Amino acid sequence: MAQIIDGKKISTQIKDECRERTAALAAQGITVTLAVIQVGSDPASSVYVRNKKRACEYCGIRSLSYELPETVSEEELLNLIRELNSRADVNGILVQLPLPKHISEDRVTEAIDPGKDVDGFHPMSVGALSIGKPGFVSCTPQGVIELLKRSGISIRRKECVVVGRSNIVGKPMAMLLLRENGTVTVTHSATVNLKEVTRRADILVVAIGKPGFITGDDLKEGAVVIDVGINRGADGKLCGDVDFESARKVASWITPVPGGVGPMTIAMLMSNCVKSVEMKR
Ligand code: NDP
Repeated sequence: MAQIIDGKKISTQIKDECRERTAALAAQGITVTLAVIQVGSDPASSVYVRNKKRACEYCGIRSLSYELPETVSEEELLNLIRELNSRADVNGILVQLPLPKHISEDRVTEAIDPGKDVDGFHPMSVGALSIGKPGFVSCTPQGVIELLKRSGISIRRKECVVVGRSNIVGKPMAMLLLRENGTVTVTHSATVNLKEVTRRADILVVAIGKPGFITGDDLKEGAVVIDVGINRGADGKLCGDVDFESARKVASWITPVPGGVGPMTIAMLMSNCVKSVEMKR
């Protein structure tokens, strides 16, 4: 039976470390500040934004909140980002996605100063990751690497398979596993005979958004299984992309949903905020 990777516990460790880092900066008169922009009042976005602000408070990070109406123009939003880019007291800028249809997410992402891009979505951040230069990395895949490392799971020389190739999870995940010297295969909806590929994985990361898609039958005996998916099952409960009950019988380590990768995303965001100050210094 697989051991559970406890994302709640590990994310708390990381937030406690952030608290120590912000305290050390505060002793030098430096406050870490994150600007959080939300457009409209989508309930899911409001929950994410509230959780991020709460985490900031826990970690000793000042958060500035900008709640813009659904009807705000792209130019007004870009102007706010430009203003925050130029403010020396703002270290990180986060625009909660998705944005209303009349606003280009690409233009908004590209407007953020790469030095304040704590979400790691700016093309400069993505480019830096792919050529092995320092920069911000998308929080969820970075959180997966922390889960593995802090559970004592080595990536070096391992056969790693990523299911899903989105810009915020699958692709940066593959880059990070590669950086850690894993041998990486990325799969997607056009992959032929997916099961054959997933069964080769020593480390399998699944991020597709399909409840229970990967089962124990798709795994190699003793695989490490990281489930990034967050879905609502038929019973209305939160569930991952992996069928936990069948997978845990075959895997050596597995992340639950909820309580696995989910809490790591915000913890890594907090870490990126502190890093934005540390990098400059
Ligand atoms: P996207 O919808 O952007 O991407 C899904 C990916 O899965 C695509 O690359 C798609 O392939 C691939 N895919 C879809 N169906 C299949 C299939 N049958 N076989 C193989 N690949 C398939 O999703 P995200 O990456 O944004 O999110 C994935 C999941 O992770 C969601 O459940 C989301 O809620 C969750 N998530 C969790 C986070 C956290 O904090 N824990 C953060 C971000 C996301 P193709 O490219 O060919 O279409």
